[in-house]
Amino acid sequence: MAQEHEAINLSQGFPDFPVSDVLIELIHQNMKAGNNQYAPMPGVPALRSIIAETISSTYHRSVDPETEITITAGGTEALFSTIAGLVSAGDEVILFDPSYDSYGPAIRLNGGTPVVVNLVAPDFSITWDEVESKINGKTRMIIVNTPHNPSGAVLKAADLKRLEAIAEKHDLIVLSDEVYERIIFDEEVHESVLKYKGLASRAVAVFSFGKTFHATGWKVGYAVAPAVLTREIRKSHQFITFSVNTPVQWALAAFMKEPDNYTGLGRYYQRKRDAFLDQVKGSSFEPLPCKGSYFQLLSYRGVSRKPEMEMAEWLTKEHKLASIPVSAFYMDKHDDCLLRFCFAKQDDTLMRAGEILRKF
Ligand code: PMP
Repeated sequence: MAQEHEAINLSQGFPDFPVSDVLIELIHQNMKAGNNQYAPMPGVPALRSIIAETISSTYHRSVDPETEITITAGGTEALFSTIAGLVSAGDEVILFDPSYDSYGPAIRLNGGTPVVVNLVAPDFSITWDEVESKINGKTRMIIVNTPHNPSGAVLKAADLKRLEAIAEKHDLIVLSDEVYERIIFDEEVHESVLKYKGLASRAVAVFSFGKTFHATGWKVGYAVAPAVLTREIRKSHQFITFSVNTPVQWALAAFMKEPDNYTGLGRYYQRKRDAFLDQVKGSSFEPLPCKGSYFQLLSYRGVSRKPEMEMAEWLTKEHKLASIPVSAFYMDKHDDCLLRFCFAKQDDTLMRAGEILRKF
């Protein structure tokens, strides 16, 4: 719809600025060097090794690249292979709404039942007592996502500790979607499940190079999990994709050796978030707190009481600014006058979006 109406597109979550020339050159070099055939099923060893080193320096957890890291076709395949490998008919899986839209269908396709706990605006925090009240003998897994799409909320150490206690008590697998691990702002610190011993021994952590290196179209990600869980994930991965783009894996392995290539990402996007918030100032759209990811929620209660879907369509068609209704991320289509705007865009794009928002 954004294309059809020539609207500024802040809807889907992808950057509109270029990938590093160095990284592109590395892919080119690897293609020329003949690294063009099937990669090993779990991923190129050099890439898995540098991922293990990075996890050790970032989260102080030792993971075995041989048996605990699997390279996947983006974070989405890591999520799907995990659910396909570990959820069976009759299992219940707890997830939070709003949430990234692949979780529910992946659970249902594998015979499981999603059990939803709603996060509550404006801070989209988790009510852990409600989570515990939904656990029964069929509960197999709980899916968390921090930093969170679509809300930009982040989990705190206290959340991870409570999650650890609940998962241990009820013997649950935790699937932790951490694709925005490096896009985190202000004084917040990313709380990976890998930092917590009791979680690392029963969790699958999912990451995406698409988010970290501005290359969502390459679809390369990975799953980190204890060997006993990784064995099951790989059984699905083997028959879903078998293996992932070889020259890109080699290039990523070389590019990751230089921490400067990813450690500044939080600062980079914080500047973008602040630039977008500056643009919103003076309009009746009200920003909600955003502590991570590249999404900013705006409440339009001060502008209109249209349902979210209608409001998003109206803004796209009549005012040439595309966003996503947050109701699209809820199973029950909950409607709270909220729209999601992606600020992973060039400053000029954000400025033009601001001009439209400030008309209200
Ligand atoms: N999880 C979340 C929370 C996401 O927002 C996305 C991308 N929109 C993904 C996973 C998927 O990542 P990838 O593009 O690497 O498949």
